[in-house]
Amino acid sequence: MGEFEFIDSIRKRFAVPEGFTGIGDDCAVIPRGDGLESLVTKDMLVEGIHFLLDRISAYDLGWKSAAVNISDIAAMGGTPLATFLSIALPPSLRSDKKWLDDFVRGYSDLSARYSCPLLGGDTCSSPDKLCIDVAVLGSAPAGRSVKRSGALPGDLICVSGCLGDSGAGLKLLLGECLSDEKFRASEKILIEKHCRPVPRVEVGKSLAAIPGVHSMMDLSDGLASDLRHILKASGLSAHIECSSLPLSAELLAISECRGWDPLELALTSGEDYELLFSIAPDSVREIEQALEGNGCHLYIIGNMTGNAEINAGAGPDIEWVGVDRDFIGFRHF
Ligand code: ADP
Ligand code: MG
Repeated sequence: MGEFEFIDSIRKRFAVPEGFTGIGDDCAVIPRGDGLESLVTKDMLVEGIHFLLDRISAYDLGWKSAAVNISDIAAMGGTPLATFLSIALPPSLRSDKKWLDDFVRGYSDLSARYSCPLLGGDTCSSPDKLCIDVAVLGSAPAGRSVKRSGALPGDLICVSGCLGDSGAGLKLLLGECLSDEKFRASEKILIEKHCRPVPRVEVGKSLAAIPGVHSMMDLSDGLASDLRHILKASGLSAHIECSSLPLSAELLAISECRGWDPLELALTSGEDYELLFSIAPDSVREIEQALEGNGCHLYIIGNMTGNAEINAGAGPDIEWVGVDRDFIGFRHF
């Protein structure tokens, strides 16, 4: 059974109360009745699957654990209010005060950026691997959280920043040796993108305030995989213009030096934590201004096309213009 098949089997057993949003979006949405709605999200990081202890510092792991969770609040255009941390510690770390202090410092530095305190959690021992499980509570103006399901035919598909940097950073972390001196600065930037992602909270909030923004999510598993979630939820298909994908100078330089395909990294590697969203074509100017106000650029990478045969494997739901292959993003199972 695949990851999404399993999640679907859970979803079928639980009716979603009227006015709530349940499984299938970046956050659950719970009505509050005071002009706001609550957002709740939860994501786990498991040693050996999401990180290797000898390749990421304790500080960065703490930072990243909070960041990837807060990113799911950004994905709906919400404000993070508080996080909860559950952690299962293997014997090697239980007595390592420095590692534990550094982890908490990283978590706390990221949280401070969003004035989002850690308010509770759970600590236990693990026989072997480190497991970190974070939940975040957030809020948004009632009815204004941006869902994956709101995309309309003709919408422009957009991203908030460069793709593939984190994936390249991971490849560098896993690789044996670094390139020569002149590439060091670029490599450092890519590795930092992987180890210390910055969730797009302010960008998400400004986008959610614009009615022309119809659907949104954060890019955690790679564009090829994540875009399919919006398409499935909205019942659409898409054209993606591969020459319009934003690729950083660092990604291009290192890819050329190492013989990597930057486009493949941009499409299939995860953890960029940029926002992926679809907009009405007549909102472009307003959205460009909103993003520029947050130090970001609007990258239009394609458009939504109508009523795909997206179920039952009835054909490709994404046309990748400019390449001759289909792409699949990161799969957890
Ligand atoms: P994201 O990448 O945004 O964190 P996921 O792909 O992890 O989203 O999850 C997709 C959806 O499935 C989310 O709505 C999440 O809450 C739900 N989900 C995942 N695993 C489970 C589970 N074990 N039980 C209930 N819901 C789950
Ligand atoms: Mg998400």
